[in-house]
Amino acid sequence: MTSYALPEPERLRAAVTDYAHSFRSTALEMDRPESDPKTLNPIVSDAYNQLFLSLPPEYNQDPLIVDGRPSYLYSCVERAVVYEELAWGDAALLISAPGPSLSGVVTEQLADPVQLERYYTRLAKGPTWTFFAVTEPQAGSDATNMSNALVETDGGKVMRGRKKYVGNAARADLGVAFARVRPGPLGISAVTVDPSRPGYHATPIPTMGMRAFGLTEIHFDDMPVEEDDILGKHLSPTRRGMAGAMRTFCLARPIVAAMALGAARACLDYAEEHRRELRGEERTALEKLRQRHTGIRHLTLTAAARADNDPSDGTMSSAAKFKAAELTLECAEFALRQFGPGARFEHPLLDKLHREARAFEFMEGAGNMQRLNLAQGYLKRRILND
Ligand SMILES: Cc1cc2nc3c(=O)[nH]c(=O)nc-3n(C[C@H](O)[C@H](O)[C@H](O)COP(=O)(O)OP(=O)(O)OC[C@H]3O[C@@H](n4cnc5c(N)ncnc54)[C@H](O)[C@@H]3O)c2cc1C
Repeated sequence: MTSYALPEPERLRAAVTDYAHSFRSTALEMDRPESDPKTLNPIVSDAYNQLFLSLPPEYNQDPLIVDGRPSYLYSCVERAVVYEELAWGDAALLISAPGPSLSGVVTEQLADPVQLERYYTRLAKGPTWTFFAVTEPQAGSDATNMSNALVETDGGKVMRGRKKYVGNAARADLGVAFARVRPGPLGISAVTVDPSRPGYHATPIPTMGMRAFGLTEIHFDDMPVEEDDILGKHLSPTRRGMAGAMRTFCLARPIVAAMALGAARACLDYAEEHRRELRGEERTALEKLRQRHTGIRHLTLTAAARADNDPSDGTMSSAAKFKAAELTLECAEFALRQFGPGARFEHPLLDKLHREARAFEFMEGAGNMQRLNLAQGYLKRRILND
């Protein structure tokens, strides 16, 4: 629950529309492999407090103002509304922006009060890039099988291992990485990482889409870890480590769903705007996609409200992410089809949208993992008639 009144979704959406257009203005430049969001679009720094900081009110002196009232984007519902709109402009720029991202969500789930205060204070100082590292070369969906480890040495604890497909890690000021401390699913801890420490190496990976995000492979080469960096030590073993990651995913998946919906809408808008005339069946197909978009937006906002209320039940979050990712790909394919065989060359924005549409399937867990969560939620009677 937030300590301030949430704005109406439509008013909140309208309040960030100009920002979304600014995102769009650099979308193609941002797609170049060498592009750097730190320098290419000043909005990521200029609108840091309004769009990206999303911390409790006491840590944000200059929030977004909607109808004369502050909106701190501290709730999942607010973020779902805003992120859909901004992703319409450019999802890649959105995820490559500074701010707490998932590292903030997991820190809130697992940190003790001193760690949390330190984290918030650091982020509130100014644009701060962060990362959240779970995936490994041999452990993606099967994250509990991770091998990156916290190892005790004569000189103290060190982190040793690798993470892969971690966004923003080469430019980050701060991050959270998961590491094994003991065998078994409960033997995993989340650790705050300071990338300036020796032994931290982040190497960019070339990608087909979301290039601005700068996916990287991280090598932890005996990077020193302080006791204070380990999150969740004050919690019971069943509430720390991967349990914190699960609650984080529950809060993150409606946001990924919202971003997917923004990208889906961008595809449909593009097709409508640039095709001189849609034939009967094309118009019908477009209208059906728009209707599904409306339905999945409702599902996403319902999931976001549930996640705000109880982040331990991720059923609806998984449903929203799965349905939104599926829709985005269909919208991107529909839009490309409207422009014939040369579409990718003649419509570079559509080409980018189509290349990026698949990313939503994998971000915060592959589609089949969402299906499994949904099936488990169904068996536990967690799917209600909202
Ligand atoms: C744009 C983008 C950004 C990302 N950002 C981050 C980040 O910041 N931090 C981070 O840690 N990770 C990040 N990831 C990685 C992402 O979380 C993983 O890609 C995802 O968890 C899947 O893991 P994997 O790639 O190893 O695929 P795998 O787990 O190998 O899955 C491959 C395929 O097999 C299927 N599959 C796997 N297991 C099963 C099963 N039991 N039953 C049925 N099907 C199964 C999956 O559905 C998938 O289709 C990012 C990925 C992308 C694309």
